[in-house]
Amino acid sequence: MNHGAALSIVPLNDLSRGIARDRERLTAAVNTVLDSAYVVLGPQHSAFEQSLAAYLGVAAAVGVASGTDALELALKVAMPEGKNTVLTAANAGGYTSTAARRAGYGLRYADVDPASLCLTESAVLDSLTKDVGVVVVTHLYGNLTDVRGLKDLCLARGIRLVEDCAQAIGARRIEGAAGSFGDLATISFYPTKNLGALGDGGAVVTDSLDFAAQLKQLRQYGWESKYRVAVEGGINSRLDELQAAFLLARLPLLDALNERRRQIVTRYVEAARGGQLEVLPADGAHHVAHLAVVLASDREVARDHFSSHGVATDIHFPVPDHHQPGFRPGPQTLTVTERVSRQVFSLPCFPEMTEEEIDRVCSAIGSFS
Ligand SMILES: *Cc1c(COP(=O)(O)O)cnc(C)c1O
Repeated sequence: MNHGAALSIVPLNDLSRGIARDRERLTAAVNTVLDSAYVVLGPQHSAFEQSLAAYLGVAAAVGVASGTDALELALKVAMPEGKNTVLTAANAGGYTSTAARRAGYGLRYADVDPASLCLTESAVLDSLTKDVGVVVVTHLYGNLTDVRGLKDLCLARGIRLVEDCAQAIGARRIEGAAGSFGDLATISFYPTKNLGALGDGGAVVTDSLDFAAQLKQLRQYGWESKYRVAVEGGINSRLDELQAAFLLARLPLLDALNERRRQIVTRYVEAARGGQLEVLPADGAHHVAHLAVVLASDREVARDHFSSHGVATDIHFPVPDHHQPGFRPGPQTLTVTERVSRQVFSLPCFPEMTEEEIDRVCSAIGSFS
């Protein structure tokens, strides 16, 4: 082995760096929880719910055990009487489909816009059936897509709109933050998300105090009070006190870390200018650059190039939901979704990347032809 010349790989992500940076505040959070001896639904949990709601400018946040649980519970409270189907995009990793199936609902997919890779009003209109009661729009890769048209369309038809903000926490437009547009919105605190816990976690946010009250019952067995099951469909899905304390400690860092992510993607976009690769831009407060995503006409050749330059890549996401046998999808043709699922791949993008690592990714982008 030639240790001196060994080229380290630029990793897709490295959680150890954020933990090292935040070590003092995370340790203090642990100590606060140990001192209080509350381990579920305690004071750190309440404080985090309040801070998160204030940060997003919504009336209420309800902590749950994961982003997928957040979707399941949001769908249950959102689904109007007499409807049973969820309409969503098929290019967003399958989480909404998992949640809809667990909640017992049918699924339909709409194609995505070729520029934003998110749902649009016209695509939703094309795929709408009478049994659709909820539309879930995923702000994919960190891009808070403009949902105003979609919101009007849903409102006019008695359909509820849920925003999946698992990749977009902190994204903002003039009209409000990601999560403040839909009837409900869901967030994941999985460790690689922009606001990551040290384990699983999630939240549902809403401006409706009625929805929030229902969610608080559903996350704890359907209880209205201890051992009294008032509503159907309850599960056990709580955000642990420790995770809430970690998230409360990290929330103040989020905006600066999101800005750093945007800078990294902007460097990649500049490096790709005039070349064969298209790096999706993250050019403003509406985009929190959860992932740095590239479109390539021959993805395998492109990924081999990065691999030979010591740059890790991955695919988000390789198989669209309507081609996943586990979701038992009906037959649907989604032209943009299918093309993009063959072209997308992700480059390293996390706020703790060094300048040297960013330079190495940029030079690999520049040398691809
Ligand atoms: C990560 C993610 C989820 C699910 O979150 P978990 O906490 O892992 O259950 C949902 N939707 C999207 C778009 C995600 O990226």
